[in-house]
Amino acid sequence: MTLTAGVLAVQGDVSEHAAAISDAAETHGETADVVEIRQSGIVPDCDLLAIPGGESTTISRLLDREGIAPEVVDHVEAGKPVLATCAGLIVCSTDANDDRVDTLDLLDVSVERNAFGRQKDSFEAPLDVTGLDEPFHAVFIRAPVIDEVGDAEVLASWDDRPVAVRDGPVVGTSFHPELTGDSRIHDLAFFE
Ligand code: GLN
Repeated sequence: MTLTAGVLAVQGDVSEHAAAISDAAETHGETADVVEIRQSGIVPDCDLLAIPGGESTTISRLLDREGIAPEVVDHVEAGKPVLATCAGLIVCSTDANDDRVDTLDLLDVSVERNAFGRQKDSFEAPLDVTGLDEPFHAVFIRAPVIDEVGDAEVLASWDDRPVAVRDGPVVGTSFHPELTGDSRIHDLAFFE
């Protein structure tokens, strides 16, 4: 079966997400037709969605301006999966503690942007993730801290802080799972 996979292409890491999605699909004997999303009208045809990192204020503004935001909400209401990474997680949260981000309220967590500490702007960590047999090498870049978890499952934590969560069809990560050539988080989000 060929799946239509949408990658929000406002900013960052689009080809890396596309590669990870194709890889994960292949593991399940499926193929993915990856489409880039920059305007409305595409999300309704997508079976799954990735919302990459970048700058959450910019992503939020474009989602609103282009009319993509309500389509993403409809996608999740229809039970279709989303993987939201880093800034994507911020945009999907219920509270970003920043008025410039109009959150989509798809993941019942509140987040604090850039809150892992200045000296830790970027770091890497081996993470134990629920559902994965071996640790996942996670790359954090100016990552958000998840400071409150409502009705969502914590899939992984680092330093006693949740860094991967699931809320129904939506998986959010503080880190960038697309950067290491390991598609297991995409697999978890889209095919489990
Ligand atoms: N610091 C960014 C923000 O707050 C997120 C960083 C990222 O996506 N790597 O929007």
